[in-house]
Amino acid sequence: MNKKEEERRARLLKMRAERLPDIKKQFEEAQKRNFNSNFGPGGKDEKLVKPKAATKAAKKTAKTATPKTKQKAEAEKRKVNLSVSTKKGEMVHHQRMLSQDVNAQATQHIIGIPVNKSRYNGYNGEQITNAKLKSMRPDPDAVKIIPIGGVGEFGIGKNMTIIEYKSEMIVVDMGVLFAGEDYPGVNYMIPDIKYLEDNREKVKAILFTHAHLDHIGACRHLLPHFNPLTPIYGTDFTIGMIKKQMSELEDVPELNYQVVQPLEHQKYQVSEHFNVEFIHTLHSIPGNAAILVRTPNGTIYLSGDWRHEEHPMGIQTDYERLDEIAKTEGIDLMLNESTNIDSPGRHPHSEYDVGENLGRVMDHYANGRVIISCFSSQISRIELILKEAAARGRKVAFSGFSMINNVEVALRAKSIKVPKDTIVKMEDIVKLPDEKVCIVCTGSQGEMNAVLNRMVTGAHKYIKIKATDTIVFSSNPIPGNEPHVVGTVDGLLREGAQVIQNGKTHLTNIGPLHLSGHAYFEDHVEFVTRMHPTNYMPYHGEFYMLEHNAEMAENVVGISRDRILVADDGDIVELTPKKKIKKCGRIHVGNKLYDDADQPVHEAVVKDRIHISREGIFVIVLTLNKKTGHLMKTPDIVSRAFIYLDNSEELIGKIRHYLCQKTDKSISTDPEMKVLKEEIKEDITHILFDATGHTPIVIPVINKV
Ligand SMILES: [Zn+2]
Ligand SMILES: [Zn+2]
Repeated sequence: MNKKEEERRARLLKMRAERLPDIKKQFEEAQKRNFNSNFGPGGKDEKLVKPKAATKAAKKTAKTATPKTKQKAEAEKRKVNLSVSTKKGEMVHHQRMLSQDVNAQATQHIIGIPVNKSRYNGYNGEQITNAKLKSMRPDPDAVKIIPIGGVGEFGIGKNMTIIEYKSEMIVVDMGVLFAGEDYPGVNYMIPDIKYLEDNREKVKAILFTHAHLDHIGACRHLLPHFNPLTPIYGTDFTIGMIKKQMSELEDVPELNYQVVQPLEHQKYQVSEHFNVEFIHTLHSIPGNAAILVRTPNGTIYLSGDWRHEEHPMGIQTDYERLDEIAKTEGIDLMLNESTNIDSPGRHPHSEYDVGENLGRVMDHYANGRVIISCFSSQISRIELILKEAAARGRKVAFSGFSMINNVEVALRAKSIKVPKDTIVKMEDIVKLPDEKVCIVCTGSQGEMNAVLNRMVTGAHKYIKIKATDTIVFSSNPIPGNEPHVVGTVDGLLREGAQVIQNGKTHLTNIGPLHLSGHAYFEDHVEFVTRMHPTNYMPYHGEFYMLEHNAEMAENVVGISRDRILVADDGDIVELTPKKKIKKCGRIHVGNKLYDDADQPVHEAVVKDRIHISREGIFVIVLTLNKKTGHLMKTPDIVSRAFIYLDNSEELIGKIRHYLCQKTDKSISTDPEMKVLKEEIKEDITHILFDATGHTPIVIPVINKV
């Protein structure tokens, strides 16, 4: 070993030694926080958080202080007859089932090695194991494609892909995933980028396909982790949206934004071995693009999100350029989105039809206000609404934070055409007669605090829904949001208003009122056939979508099975110099959870919240005499989300009686506080389970005065 290497090792060891106490402290603190949860003592994940050395040390001190037999005898002395009819085993069984449920609910995202026995899993349908992963030898000359988020999860989002070759990396997209109700108090999650942070100096460029939040939503958290000189590529609208998001940070970082013009077909040499090109494709947002990455082992096509339209608004997908690339260079690996793979056929109508139908609504309900709710990023839709409104002498006002934001960015990026004197402010439009009013707002997903619901409840500053209003849902509910949409629709109908939803043409004779942003099955068949890729990898979708996309590629397009991979977040996919694809190992992936104030939420906190939401929490406060160990006063009892104390006198009496006996019996043996608390916790849990069939989180607090 040369001297330099020796020095380096010494430095690393020193750094490690310095950090170790810190890590230990973090562990201890985390344990303290999670009293009764799975991470707590006796919980399912105890082994994960308890440092081995610490347990050993604890055992050692316990041995020297009091021998085990003596401990047992003393514990026996403190035992109180609980007078319960259920066996302890029943309680333990209940706790175990609960713990499994809580774990299942709180860890639906990918952790560890996910189960993947798909015939396209890259291992002949066999489940990969840790041992096999360890024995794999990566090919140093391969280009690695690593999805770090966005594939095979329980929702669509968190899209992020790494492409790596030797000492160079590029990153495509940084999305969020909205968490849904299974994660109480969590608004969204973002990919854990530990792998990128460990390889920060390798990252040569960051590229974005488009400005939907499932592709750029994590920017505010992730971009500040990279070298600020790293170029960030995207179209005008996309970069505008990222800048807007970054401007909401307290310390706005100066970043190296590079605006691209896909129609100019410019090739960007972003590093020694990577050359990228943006290709204009259609989706439901301006400035949408696919990305072609030229690597030493061939070209990789990342589709981003896309749809096919025969008669699109604006410029058609750049099929000419795509054909040229497919013909001259060829696509060696195609990553293709999977969102609508389960929708048969192809897009049945165009965005223009939606615009026309919105105009028909304005005609049909000519005397009242028309309120249209759609996704705030649907800039083309908004352009059509403006046009239809202007043609009928209606003014348009926007409502909703994201709606106003997006229109502003679109105006700046010249992604929207606005008829003269049509847009007015919310506070001005309410002064106009009803037949001159059109409002475009958020809330089409039934979000509790979005504009539409506030208009229903009267909480909106300017608008209260009335019977002459017509409300159009120019959208479809995202799976999972249906009950909320129903809630909003019911609220509107109760106010006597007309409600027109997409997909219910038989009720109103008006529709369609929405167009999905993603290609349908037959569109995929046609497009993949047209691109004729050598290798194929579905992405952007839940596991069943990836699987169905892969089946489409094999069975309909005719790509051979060994050239198709269904990957999970963290899988390393190699594109070899011989232009074959195979999986070769995994990197660390995970999720960071955030609440609606953009603050991080620890997974253990989520588990506790789920536990509390199901079983409640029960706190007992004991005040003991420091010298004698006697109870100084009646124990305080707090029950939250569990039983209502006023109705539970008998049970509370029983618990108080138990606590008196327990403290009395403990005086002679004077156990350690920790031991006493643990015993009380277990007994109380048993009494509560016996009485209610539930095991709330029990927290004993003991004060000595
Ligand atoms: Zn999108
Ligand atoms: Zn997307």
